[in-house]
Amino acid sequence: MDQILRFLQEHKEEMLENLRLFVERETPSTDKKLLDDFARFLADYAATIGGRAEILPAVGSGDHVRVRWGDEDSGPPIFLLGHYDTVWAEGTIEKMPFSISDGVATGPGIFDMKCGLVQGFWAVRALREVTGVHRPLVFVCNSDEEVGSPTSRALIEDEARAAHTVLVLEPSLGGALKTARKGVGRYRIHVTGRPSHAGLDPEGGISAIEEMAHLILELHGHTDHETGTTVNVGVVGGGTRYNVVAAEAFAEVDVRAVTVSESERMDAVLASLKVRHEEAEVQVEGGTIWPPMERTEKRAELFAHAKELAAEIGFKLTEGLAGGASDGCLCASIGAPTLDGLGAVGGGAHAGDEHVEVSSIPKRAALVARLMETL
Ligand SMILES: [Zn+2]
Repeated sequence: MDQILRFLQEHKEEMLENLRLFVERETPSTDKKLLDDFARFLADYAATIGGRAEILPAVGSGDHVRVRWGDEDSGPPIFLLGHYDTVWAEGTIEKMPFSISDGVATGPGIFDMKCGLVQGFWAVRALREVTGVHRPLVFVCNSDEEVGSPTSRALIEDEARAAHTVLVLEPSLGGALKTARKGVGRYRIHVTGRPSHAGLDPEGGISAIEEMAHLILELHGHTDHETGTTVNVGVVGGGTRYNVVAAEAFAEVDVRAVTVSESERMDAVLASLKVRHEEAEVQVEGGTIWPPMERTEKRAELFAHAKELAAEIGFKLTEGLAGGASDGCLCASIGAPTLDGLGAVGGGAHAGDEHVEVSSIPKRAALVARLMETL
């Protein structure tokens, strides 16, 4: 058996105990106090693995953590990336406690992506203790991915620019790596009409809701399951009373696309929306939050290498397209060699049945360690 895998199998109970600690410390994206506490916990934890941990203060988000190993001057580092915030509110752990039964571990944020973080740290440990490889590594754990990475974006892009390769520890797609991800745009549309009495002066008004209704249909018309582009108006509002022609309406829109050109095309569509009535007005705010991660030739090569390593470790690795974006998209968009979805095997991200498969934990950590050893 692979030396690294044996080491990790032997430490499986310790990995699971770490996982319990990570999951039981709750980290909702919006709770700075809990996030900052976790950042300190993570920095201390990383130090036990010989890492030089820094806490990077953030305003409006939890603090981020950056850990380095090896000699920084001896070449570009392998960049491990994962977020430690979750979508779950404080107290969820009471209803959804950490538990392991029948080979499945559950708990809030376990799949997305505390298990990926634990696997990443253990991969570093295995690399250093088993192979003696001491190449430079940097591991960033950011606090705000689930809300669009507003305060960690620049940090991630800078590290990606300096990196040899980026390994993103986001959850897998049923075990598959994510060699492509859709990009995501978020927009808020505001339409201004003119109010009037719906009974006494219907012609004096301009209905912002009617205008918005046309815009919604127009936008949803851009959904194309062939190309993979989707538009979803997820929130709408407007008007004041049933007998008043609505002066205002708003909508919140999610746009996803597989290619950069398609993402840019949709951005232009949103920017040039027109209302029908010449006296009505439309304003659009927002834009592309994460550009698509396309399956480039370089990424296909990286995947082929990972697939070989997985076969040596003893499992079959596949690849897929993810409908959701991640910080991996930021790294890929600046041209850094990036492999995403290296984290947990399981399911139920953001859902009540969130879980990971325990037997996969040492194997996935071994794959990350072997990538760090061989890339
Ligand atoms: Zn995630």
